[in-house]
Amino acid sequence: MKLSEIKLTNPYLALPDECYTRVKPTPLENVFLIHANEEVAKLLDIDSEELYSDAFVEFVNGAWQLEGSDPFAMCYAGHQFGHFVPRLGDGRAINIGTIKQWHLQLKGAGQTRYSRSGDGRAVLRSSIREYLMSEAMHGLGIESTRALALIGSEHKVYREVWETGAIVLRVSPSWIRFGTFEYFSHKKRYEELEALADYAIAESYPHLVDAPNKYLQFFTEVVARTARLMAEWQAVGFNHGVMNTDNMSIAGLTIDYGPYAFLDDYDSKYICNHTDQGGRYSFGNQPNIGEWNLQALMHTLSPMAHIHKLEKALAQYTELYTDRYLQLMGQKLGLDVLKDEDLELIKHLLGMMQGLQIDYTLFFRTLSHYEGERSTLLSLGLFHKPMHEWLDSYDERLKANTSTTEERHSAMLQTNPKYVLKNYMLQEAITAAEDGDFSVVDRLFEIAKDPYAERQAHERWAGATPDAFKNQKLSCSS
Ligand code: AMP
Ligand code: MG
Repeated sequence: MKLSEIKLTNPYLALPDECYTRVKPTPLENVFLIHANEEVAKLLDIDSEELYSDAFVEFVNGAWQLEGSDPFAMCYAGHQFGHFVPRLGDGRAINIGTIKQWHLQLKGAGQTRYSRSGDGRAVLRSSIREYLMSEAMHGLGIESTRALALIGSEHKVYREVWETGAIVLRVSPSWIRFGTFEYFSHKKRYEELEALADYAIAESYPHLVDAPNKYLQFFTEVVARTARLMAEWQAVGFNHGVMNTDNMSIAGLTIDYGPYAFLDDYDSKYICNHTDQGGRYSFGNQPNIGEWNLQALMHTLSPMAHIHKLEKALAQYTELYTDRYLQLMGQKLGLDVLKDEDLELIKHLLGMMQGLQIDYTLFFRTLSHYEGERSTLLSLGLFHKPMHEWLDSYDERLKANTSTTEERHSAMLQTNPKYVLKNYMLQEAITAAEDGDFSVVDRLFEIAKDPYAERQAHERWAGATPDAFKNQKLSCSS
């Protein structure tokens, strides 16, 4: 379809007025296209030629509205670092309408009623990070919001220094957060709360629309999706960095990419967010925080379902998380049938990796080629003895596998990515982009789409992170 043929809908606007505020985007000055995502365009039925037109850039800039658009910002609250903030909301994201089930949103398109002291903008570096990373998560098979396009500008935006503004056109099947429920619960606006729950069920859990005890069932499924997402983050080595309840998706998606990081050397205590001094959102604490956040959500639903039953649903979290995590780690190790003692093998491995300072992604990719010859694996760590000990257990465990070595290798190569977008790689893309060269963005986008493929041209990104860039921290404006 041509852009001019599209008719956007706005289902969220059917909710009570308190749920949102209408607002027009404030376009950036002198904008240009940095990247457009043809795969997402296909999902939206937009012709790919349209993506390279001037009109498309104006559309992403919020300067040209498609038919049916009625832009608005969503209202929500949230627990930030454990402290309740009664009103947050989209301070720099503006929803511009829906195509099929995809809700389009411009991030960085100016102030809204919820901007507080913020300027409503997103800088180029953080926009590159969000654009690439949401596609990378999708490429890894992890539920995530996605992005149609990234535009840059000459518009000056002040952070600690002057930078330039950018906009990411994000798309998602849901933008509702745990914090959206907390907003109405805190205000004791139970009518709105119920309308929101009904909307979220219809949007993300449509099979529950007519279910008995639908709010309880809804919560039960949010628990399951969240447990699954946490297991996926842990297995792939992803640290989100800001797991406030306003950054938790009711649909179980990864949302709001800020100071996130993939692990370099394995470190369960790694904290990617510079402002997180206590390590509340450290890598190893993410599954606990997932549960903490679900508990906050549970309290908001207590007017609509029995608290004891909600608590019972939440009590399933640990088992759901552990089962999924074990399953994913079993796949990463090439184990075709899981055994009870495999959890010990995994714990032993993680302890060994932490002690020997081994690159998480590189280890599993290297192990995907293992057939008894140990020298390549041994070279990844500081010492040999602990690695030998773990490999002895692994060799023993592999004897119980029913698949052939070739089958194991091929399955592991589909599970253990060759590349993840580590922060030093993103920084390389950002540094070049700030000089007007977007070729590294293009290359990382290609890698992000298929992280399992071998690519000779990008071999240097498949190794361990260079020492100078390992396990760094990022600021919240990232
Ligand atoms: P985040 O940590 O990025 O998820 O943001 C937390 C809250 O601050 C959300 O309500 C955002 O909309 C808001 N926010 C962050 N940056 C800005 C900004 N530059 N201008 C306005 N609001 C912002
Ligand atoms: Mg957020």
